[in-house]
Amino acid sequence: MPEGQPRLRPCVVVHYHEVGLKGRNRPFFLQTLEQNLRRATAGLGVKRVERASGRILLWLEPGAAWEPLRERIARVFGVVNFSRGYAVQPGLAAIIQGVLAHLPEAGAFATFAVRARRAFKDLPLSSREIAVELGAAVQQASGAGVNLSAPDMTIYVEVLPQGALFFFDKIRGPGGLPVGSSAPVTVLLSGGIDSPVAACRMLKRGSRATLVHFHSFPFLNRASQEKARELAQIIRGYQGDTVLYLVPLGEIQRKVVVACPAPYRVVLYRRFMVRIAEALGERHGAQALVTGDSLGQVASQTIENLIAVEDAATQIILRPLIGMDKQEIADEAERIGTYALSIQPDQDCCALFVPSNPSIHTDLKGIRAAESALDVESLVQQGIAEAEVVEYGQREKHSAAEQKKNTLPV
Ligand code: ATP
Ligand code: MG
Repeated sequence: MPEGQPRLRPCVVVHYHEVGLKGRNRPFFLQTLEQNLRRATAGLGVKRVERASGRILLWLEPGAAWEPLRERIARVFGVVNFSRGYAVQPGLAAIIQGVLAHLPEAGAFATFAVRARRAFKDLPLSSREIAVELGAAVQQASGAGVNLSAPDMTIYVEVLPQGALFFFDKIRGPGGLPVGSSAPVTVLLSGGIDSPVAACRMLKRGSRATLVHFHSFPFLNRASQEKARELAQIIRGYQGDTVLYLVPLGEIQRKVVVACPAPYRVVLYRRFMVRIAEALGERHGAQALVTGDSLGQVASQTIENLIAVEDAATQIILRPLIGMDKQEIADEAERIGTYALSIQPDQDCCALFVPSNPSIHTDLKGIRAAESALDVESLVQQGIAEAEVVEYGQREKHSAAEQKKNTLPV
């Protein structure tokens, strides 16, 4: 194609954190990230996902809408930043013409900078020449000034063997590791502020999360279940396919109330939760439990009580928020988009039959003795059998047989 009539191919340029992806696991991390990007953008006009010189390119159908793509890619862990861009022939005229044609997509700017790089040195054109010539053309076309230290907008040009890429401002991604690159976990999801934040922190370190919510319906209303469903959908935005279990705990709580001393109730409820959640998550390969505990936040979250709860689990319990203040957690909930939902009123199951004087220094011996009044194993099996499974995402389209397999009680 002659110079001056550039054929532009729209794409999204995705940068990942190379430092975190070094070593033998690198190909696996990159494959996982590519797959996650493909899934996250399904149906949005992405033709092909390709790796090119230390970045990932999403080739777009002409006219693919940018806003929905931007929203989805901003939730893919492992993405450090991304930009809307175009591939063009690696000649100066083609680059300038392409940039000028698409300048309106960069939005309003009073100052700008051009950053040019050559990953392919054979081109008879230096990075400096590109920056100077393109800078002059943009200045003339837009009337904006050049500011290399703090520009309103940056135009990036990268010359690769396959052609030249240009793209505008880098949009920050969530960083972290791609979901699926660490072992899966089970998150105990209440309707509150903390546990969805804990879930997202684990996704950010590469774990896929199965969610388990306990409710006390019909002793309390259904509000907490509705919240858990909506939170699960937000979490799906970050990890794709999501499985949520809704487990009735009311009957078990009633038995605890009848047979055990009142100050131990909350810890005993929690011990049942971890046992049931562990069994449900194992169906999905989960190897650890996750809670939104933050040290000392409420009576059940003293070190002594965390020990007393942990004693009932066989898997490790990860608590990514343990050292955070409530305000810090709330700020993070705001950023991930769960805060507004979490503060809606509900009736959490832990509020059912709780005494005004919960034990804050639970001793293990006392807890175990109290629990021996109950048939723990059959109550746990009952909880597992009564769990309702809700699946969000691709799995909804799976065969009936697969659905059945996933919903069978163990
Ligand atoms: P959150 O804001 O997540 O509800 P919280 O401040 O209310 O936390 P607690 O109610 O003490 O704290 O719960 C501590 C952790 O125990 C929660 O973060 C969650 O992981 C788990 N948990 C509590 N209630 C439930 C529930 N109904 N279903 C599932 N997990 C729960
Ligand atoms: Mg709670």
